[in-house]
Amino acid sequence: MADLTYPGGRLRLFVDAALAEGAQVETSPSQAHYLVHVMRARLGDQMALFNGRDGEWLAHLAEFSRRQTVLRCTERIAPQTVVPDLWFAFAPVKKTAAEYVVQKATELGVRRLIPVITRRTIVRKVNPERLAANAIEAAEQSGRREVPVIAEVLALEAMLARWPQERALVFCDEAGDAPPIADAVMALRGRPSGVLIGPEGGFEPTERAAIRAKGFACPVSLGSRILRADTAGLAALAVWQAVAGDWRVTGA
Ligand code: SAH
Repeated sequence: MADLTYPGGRLRLFVDAALAEGAQVETSPSQAHYLVHVMRARLGDQMALFNGRDGEWLAHLAEFSRRQTVLRCTERIAPQTVVPDLWFAFAPVKKTAAEYVVQKATELGVRRLIPVITRRTIVRKVNPERLAANAIEAAEQSGRREVPVIAEVLALEAMLARWPQERALVFCDEAGDAPPIADAVMALRGRPSGVLIGPEGGFEPTERAAIRAKGFACPVSLGSRILRADTAGLAALAVWQAVAGDWRVTGA
C-alpha cells in the first residue's frame, strides 16, 4: 500500500459522488485508465478525493476490473474550502491559449469563468468539455477542493446585461486613462468581483463606452505596456488575489 503522488504532492482526484467514511466511489473510465495504466496503482494504494462539497478525503483503490474501478474513502483529511468570490470574463483566444488561460485562472483561484464574445473576438467556437477538463485537472493539481464553473459563452452585451449589480467588474482598459489596478482593487476589498479582459484586438470604442456606462464597472490600468490578452488576464487575477483575495492567508 503506497501513497500515489505526482510532482506537487499526493495524487488528488475530483469526483461527483458523495464522500463519507466507507463510501465507495466508482471512477470515470478516464480516471480508471489514469490510475491503473498511467500511475500503475495497485490495490490499497492511496490518493485524495474531493467533490466540492464534502471536504478532502483519503481513499484507496479497493477494486479494479475490466468492468469497474472502485475507490473507498477512509478518513476526511481537510474541511471543504472555497476560493474567493472572483469571476473571470475573457474573450477566448486560439484554442490552446483558451485552455491555458482556463488552467492558469483555476490555479489563481477563480470561481467562475465566462467566455465572452466581443466584436473583435476571432475565436468564436469554444469547446466547453475541453475547458471543463482543463479546469478539473488544474483544480486537482493546485490543491483546490472545488472546481470553477465554466459559464456558457455570452456576447459582451448579454454579459453586461446579466452582470449582478453588486459585483464589481474590474475592467482592464488598455486606453491608459484608468487608475492603477492595485489602487482600484484595494478599494474593492470585501466586495464580490470579476475581471474583464478584451481580445487580442482590444475592445471597440463603443464597447468601452458601454462597459464604462455600467455602475458596477471599475476601469483599471495594467501599466503603460500593452499586454497580450492571456498575460493581461492572469496578471490582473494575480493582483486581485494579492490585494483583495486570499494570498494573505497561507495553508488551508
Ligand atoms: N490590440 C489592442 C490591445 C489589446 S490587449 C491595442 O493595441 O490597443 C488585450 C486586452 O488585454 C485588452 O483589451 C485589455 O483588456 C487587456 N490589456 C492589455 N494591456 C493592458 C493594459 N496596459 N492595461 C489594461 N488592460 C490591458
